[in-house]
Amino acid sequence: MADEDKLDRARDLLDFIDRSPSPYHAVAEARRRLEAAGFTALDERETWSLRPGEQAFLIRGGGALIAVRAGSRPPSESGFLIVGAHTDSPGLRIRPCPDVHASGYLQLAVELYGSPLLFTWLDRDLGVAGRVTLRGGSTRLVDVDRPVARIPSLALHLQRGVNQEGLKLDAQEHLLPVLRMESAGESRSFVAELGTSTEDVLGWDLCLYDVQPACLGGAANDFLFASRLDDLVGCHAAISALVEAAPREITQLVVLYDFEETGSQAASGAHSRWLLGVLERLVGGSDLSRALARSLLVSTDMAHALHPSHANKHDPAHAPILGGGPVVKHNANQSYATDGPAAAVFAEACRAAGFAPQRFVARNDLPAGSTIGPIAAALTSIRTVDVGNPMLSMHACREMAGARDVDPMIRALVELLSRGQPPDPDC
Ligand SMILES: [Zn+2]
Repeated sequence: MADEDKLDRARDLLDFIDRSPSPYHAVAEARRRLEAAGFTALDERETWSLRPGEQAFLIRGGGALIAVRAGSRPPSESGFLIVGAHTDSPGLRIRPCPDVHASGYLQLAVELYGSPLLFTWLDRDLGVAGRVTLRGGSTRLVDVDRPVARIPSLALHLQRGVNQEGLKLDAQEHLLPVLRMESAGESRSFVAELGTSTEDVLGWDLCLYDVQPACLGGAANDFLFASRLDDLVGCHAAISALVEAAPREITQLVVLYDFEETGSQAASGAHSRWLLGVLERLVGGSDLSRALARSLLVSTDMAHALHPSHANKHDPAHAPILGGGPVVKHNANQSYATDGPAAAVFAEACRAAGFAPQRFVARNDLPAGSTIGPIAAALTSIRTVDVGNPMLSMHACREMAGARDVDPMIRALVELLSRGQPPDPDC
């Protein structure tokens, strides 16, 4: 494939990211792409069953989505092939009583979401996106797509020594974005920025985000510079691969969970029974265990790439690099769910797509975190492989990954979905 074609996939990812400033927008964008490919919405409250080859999706909690293309054989005979990812990213969420009036400024009260790298949120041009629920119960997406807020850093002159001693931020005191100036006696509200009257807004789930668009970067366009790469890269790859894959005997699914960054303990998180419940309905009888025993979950979340200035943070033999292609993530203690046979299935798909995957194992003295894979694997007992594209600046407000890793991940997932062969349950 020509280099420009590979970068086309990267550009499509950048578009996906810019359209997804919150988990709710990520689901809306996934929905838009699925509908364009002929998938139709299912209502979980209703009874439904899918004909062979039928394509449908469900949304839970606004920020999670399951898409399915029914196989030509019953799942009890051919299993499920599931690609998983997560829609949420670490950052700052706006508290329900947001207005802080201090020293002539209107500031916003925020709550940490997940584990962001705090200093990376300073001096960014911040917009606001998410959803609001109005009087009467209607919920709509909002995106204040302009730099309405900023968390100014403290001048060097007022904190001499910060470069030597390191920046210490108090998450309660030092992360309040400034929204506007207020005159004496004035008391404005953040809600006015949402384009609706204060009394009408009864609830919200709102994130701050950097309004700088995602872009290709580096002297040779080697890189992606963007917010929320973790894990919109996985969401984009999963949806792209499902849309592209041909129908097969096996039932193909994508699950985009919310709340991975908080530990997945949520109704639309990997700790929920949601996926299992949908699989139960797809089986439609008493053969769920047979179907699960024939199934594979490919959990695609980002992987830690080797940082050139911190090379000692990696095991030298398991140190993925940007541009080196997708990574299989291993952890003998099940922070990643990958086992030998599942790793082999993914490696085979990569080989068929024309490359060999990189491998990651954390140093013994530096645990590297976890993801949706082991949690969903424990709940469903489905064999699982944890994979992902390599990245730097993980959990920063603006992150960095390899532009030429986007295409191979999608091709490997298409290969897996299109093979339609369930993994051997005996090994
Ligand atoms: Zn992630």
